[in-house]
This record gives sequence, C-alpha cells and structure tokens, in this order.
Amino acid sequence: MVRQRQYKHSAGLLLEKGYVGKGSKLLKGNKGHSFSKIGDAGMCGFYFVEEQTTFVVMNRRYQVPLDDLNTFHIHALAESMIYLTNLEECKALFADQNLLEEIHFIGGGSNILLTEDIKGLTVLNQLKGKSVIHETDDEVHVKFMSGENWHECVLWCVENNLGGIENLSLIPGTIGAAPIQNIGAYGVELKDVFVTLEAIDVNTGAVHVFSNAECEFGYRDSIFKHKVKGQYFILSVTLSLSKQHVCHTEYGMIAEELQKMGVEKPDIRSVSDAVIKIRSSKLPNPDHIGNAGSFFKNPIVTQEHFQSLKIHYPDLPSYPVEEGIKVPAAWLIEHSGPSSNQSWKGYRRGDCGVHERQALVLVNYGEASGKEILELSTRIITSVQQRFNILLEREVNVW
Ligand SMILES: Cc1cc2nc3c(=O)[nH]c(=O)nc-3n(C[C@H](O)[C@H](O)[C@H](O)COP(=O)(O)OP(=O)(O)OC[C@H]3O[C@@H](n4cnc5c(N)ncnc54)[C@H](O)[C@@H]3O)c2cc1C
Repeated sequence: MVRQRQYKHSAGLLLEKGYVGKGSKLLKGNKGHSFSKIGDAGMCGFYFVEEQTTFVVMNRRYQVPLDDLNTFHIHALAESMIYLTNLEECKALFADQNLLEEIHFIGGGSNILLTEDIKGLTVLNQLKGKSVIHETDDEVHVKFMSGENWHECVLWCVENNLGGIENLSLIPGTIGAAPIQNIGAYGVELKDVFVTLEAIDVNTGAVHVFSNAECEFGYRDSIFKHKVKGQYFILSVTLSLSKQHVCHTEYGMIAEELQKMGVEKPDIRSVSDAVIKIRSSKLPNPDHIGNAGSFFKNPIVTQEHFQSLKIHYPDLPSYPVEEGIKVPAAWLIEHSGPSSNQSWKGYRRGDCGVHERQALVLVNYGEASGKEILELSTRIITSVQQRFNILLEREVNVW
C-alpha cells in the first residue's frame, strides 16, 4: 500500500517534468492489476514483465493548440496533452489514478466540436499496430490498435482482398472512435463486421473485452455514448473480414458510379474506389473547409407523424427502419431556414455556415469559434422543430 502511494506521488511529479519513470516497485505495487490481460491477449506480442525495471518517457505538453487536431479547425487549447504511442505508456498512464480526474481522448478529432479550452489532461491516441488473430477459409479476424487511421485500415483490407468495410472508405478518424458512434455509410455499419473491442476502465485501470452485443450498437450509437460515456479508453478493435465477400452495391450511388467506371463485376477494390469518388465529389474536404461531416443524425419518426407530414410535404423522402420511418435531416434543414423565404443550405454568417452542397454539414470557413457553430446548430434545431415538429439530434460530440 505504501509502495503504491509512493509510486503515485512520484509518477505525478515526474509527469510534471514530462516523464513517467517506473520500475519493479511500481509493477509490484500494481500486482494483480488487470493490465496483465493485455499481455494475455497477445496484443502486438507484448508482455509486461512484473520484475523488470523499465522507464516510460511520456511526452506531456502544456497549453497545446488544437487547431490542427480537430477537423473543424477550431482554435482551442488543451491544458495539457499526452501523446499515447505504445502500451507501456498506456499502462503507466492508467495505473496512476491521480492523473485521471479529468481526462479526454482525441483520435482524429473528426467528430468533436470544441466550444472552449480543454481542462485537465487530453490524450492523443497514436497507438498503432494490426495483427491477424484468427483465420479460416472464409474469414479473418484482425485486431487493429485504436490509434490506427480508419481509412488506411480500409485500404489495407482492400490490398489484402478482405471484404466488409470497403463501403466505409474515406471516413476520417481512428479505429478506436469507430465503435463509439458505430460509424456507417452506404448501407454498411461497423457493427456488421465488429467482433470485440478491448477497453481500459479509466477509473480502475482494468481491461474489459466488449462483445458486439455488449456494445449495444444502434444507428450512430453505442453504449459508449450513454451508459458508460467517458468511462473507457478503447485500446483495440477486432473486426471479422470476409475472404469470400459479396459486395454491397445497392445503396446510394455506388451502382451508378461503378457503371460510370466501366466496372461489370464489382469487387472489393472497385467498390472502395467508387465510394471514394462519390464521397470526394459530395463532401467538403476538412483540409480545405473545417467540418465534422454530418452534424446531425437522421431523425426517426412514427408512421403517424410521417403520414401527417406527407400531407403538407408530399416529396419528403423516407426510409422505413425497425424503429419507424427515417427522414433525411439534410432535407429538413434544406426546407427550413433563418427566415421564411431562405434555406439554411448555403447560409453563412461570418466564418460559420451550412455547406452550399450539403445541408447536413456545418462549416468553419476560417476563424469561426466552436460557440458560434454550436449556436448556429441550435438555431437550425429550433427552426426544423417549428416547421416539422421534429427534434434533430447532434451527431457531433460537443465539448
Ligand atoms: C468529412 C467527414 C466525413 C464523415 N463521414 C462519416 C460517415 O460517413 N459516417 C460516420 O459514421 N461518420 C462520419 N464522420 C464522423 C467521424 O469521421 C467518425 O465519427 C469517426 O469515427 C471519428 O473518429 P475520430 O478518431 O476522429 O474521433 P474523435 O473526433 O477524435 O473523437 C470522437 C469521440 O470519440 C471519443 N474517442 C476517440 N477515440 C477514443 C478511444 N480510443 N477511446 C475512447 N473514446 C474515444 C472522443 O473522446 C470523442 O468523444 C465524418 C467526419 C468528417 C469530418
């Protein structure tokens, strides 16, 4: 017990200087700590040897500008930041409970809106690695470390002729954030290929393995947005990828694009190429105009509500889903506006606005603040509610 106290204290001090030092005492102090499970899981072939003396050097910086670490390119500061690059650092970080009073995780920053500076510790996830952990004639289970770039992993699968996530090509961000909102596009969602994920409980340091069912995936939703919000750091995600894949080309404009490309027999690569082409032509590139993709979720309304809307808006598009009728938020936004004769689509005030081709995408043309974008989103929510009696929900995480 005394040892553990000493460790926590010294780790805190060393961190202030930009280092975490740890040795056999630290590891003894944490004997029985479930981090040993990381070794058991064979992640990157890593094993934590309890008696071995090691030193972890962590890059802790202060007052870090986040402009390039969020795709809205909002100016904000992180009070302090650690760049998490390997499992040793993970172990040291989560073993020290003194550090965990206020902690925030950033992957690619493509699904956050920063409305103020971030207090406490921000962890930038740069954990890399992938490994095949199970293989049959039909499928391969690949474990991806959570700091891997999602799109690069898709391209790796395409390269290796592994099917399942090619429709999710070009979605920005990291593997670790993908389960948080069960990313989806062109008729495919992460949950369709998801096997398990490993996550560290930030309160206890214990590693928990979540099954597909335990994640409670829904439309842009999972348990990590509700019941256990902020409680876990996702360490790795294992996906089941198909060696005998049947491509999904029926959704969106994929079939049309494949035809334009002259593809008669679609395969994993051509579908990925088609999705990349469609997305590049439709969505603003965050490197050019700050944005976080779809700002709102597509709402689901009851059959009765939908029928009453249809009377006044006969061309309102709809998609039947299990829970009711899904209507495109983009259409609702396009058909409402800041005044009765103006649409939100293309609206701009100062440097913040609604994209001219994509009503679902709010943009930062330069110096917009997170608060301005949040305020605009509130105005849109209010006007859509007044016109259609539908409450839009933000997809983006507001910080
Ligand atoms: C141009 C554009 C297009 C997009 N298109 C789509 C699309 O088609 N479909 C779709 O679903 N999404 C889309 N998105 C949204 C976004 O790409 C995804 O939500 C993506 O998964 C976010 O990943 P990230 O690493 O950038 O997450 P971040 O923005 O860094 O984080 C998002 C949330 O997850 C948490 N988080 C991140 N990593 C971890 C971790 N390891 N452990 C615990 N919590 C963590 C963060 O704390 C935060 O709350 C788009 C975004 C952009 C900018």
